[in-house]
Amino acid sequence: MQVSDPRGRSVSLPVAGPAEGRRPRALRRDEVTAAEWGDWRWQLRHRLESLEDLERFVDLTDDERRGVALAPSLFRIGITPYYASLMDRARPDCPVRMQVIPVAAEENVAVGEYRDPLGEDGLMPGGVRSIVHRYPDRVLFLALDRCAIYCRHCNRRRMVGQETGMIAREELEAGLDYIRRTPAVRDVLISGGDPFTLSTEKLEWLVSSIRAIPHVDIVRIGTRVPVCLPMRVDEALTSMLRKYHPLYVNTHFNHPKELTEEARRACERLADAGIPVGNQTVLLRGVNSRPDLIETLNRGLLKARVRPYYLFQGDPVQGTDHLRTPVGAGIEIMEHLRGRITGLGIPHLVIDAPGGGGKIPIGPNYVLTWGPDRLTLRTYENKTVTYVEPAERDCRCTYDET
Ligand SMILES: *Cc1c(COP(=O)(O)O)cnc(C)c1O
Repeated sequence: MQVSDPRGRSVSLPVAGPAEGRRPRALRRDEVTAAEWGDWRWQLRHRLESLEDLERFVDLTDDERRGVALAPSLFRIGITPYYASLMDRARPDCPVRMQVIPVAAEENVAVGEYRDPLGEDGLMPGGVRSIVHRYPDRVLFLALDRCAIYCRHCNRRRMVGQETGMIAREELEAGLDYIRRTPAVRDVLISGGDPFTLSTEKLEWLVSSIRAIPHVDIVRIGTRVPVCLPMRVDEALTSMLRKYHPLYVNTHFNHPKELTEEARRACERLADAGIPVGNQTVLLRGVNSRPDLIETLNRGLLKARVRPYYLFQGDPVQGTDHLRTPVGAGIEIMEHLRGRITGLGIPHLVIDAPGGGGKIPIGPNYVLTWGPDRLTLRTYENKTVTYVEPAERDCRCTYDET
């Protein structure tokens, strides 16, 4: 099939449908046994990767077909059958579909977009490829390059999706060595790739090795598995993790449609194992860029015992201009949340500094004037109030026992 791309070039699209005489793979919930569907390894082995697979779930637009044709040279496609089952067959504006099915605009590189938007490659100490050390007291530990799904807004697309599985054992050992000899590191955030797609044994080796380092106070894991592979949060995983407290998990829900019964139960199983669960949402244009949607999402998260933690302005990663929102949209969302929902449901809105430098909080301004002895502020309802400063300004604490 021949079509024109936005620049008028003719591109040929692969034609959908199974090859002659071949039966399509069983991928849909109604085509497989409950045991298969509920088996996380089955879900990973049966990820949707091709046009043929995708056509079983959605009626693709020409724009999506072009995106699928381009994906091999840009960023791989991978969608668990579970997550695919949440896609709307008829609606290309479906928020689940927009997060995992590429469109042609992914080949465009906008002004200010980078391959490595957060300058992570330059923060790998002494060439240790598994560590990103940006803040004095904490490191990011990149444990693998595989995810359960490949998000079209991924900011680590330069390294994720190679599917070499775990990063080489020597690189992980080098990362552990770095933490062992760097006593300033008190907090290790395991990410990648998605650590919950590792076998329980491999993940336990990593978590227990980090936990054995005396100066590490807390271990955190970043994962999208509760959203896209909730059956992975099984008894084997939670009973392993609970041995290594204090342990925190941050997940990545972007839209209320993702908060299915299964996803909520996965979060609750983590919480039941004593793990505080937080959420990091990425603002995505046309997916969740509406104040009431984020409010609904955050209310749903709190009900599932998940605390909204960060709301990210989209990182300027190459090929994502069409998914990014203007900064004002995020500020408007924060303005909407404040006063309308408990502070527990209000995340930090941040821009991760392009080129490296860390997360920068932004948001509505509530301080109108700041004089020598008083401030004028505005409330969430835009009423002006005055706060008078105390007479004494010396803030030293003299009691030194802790
Ligand atoms: C986001 C991030 C962290 C963790 O940040 P917190 O604000 O502590 O959640 C640590 N290291 C790097 C490189 C990061 O990007």
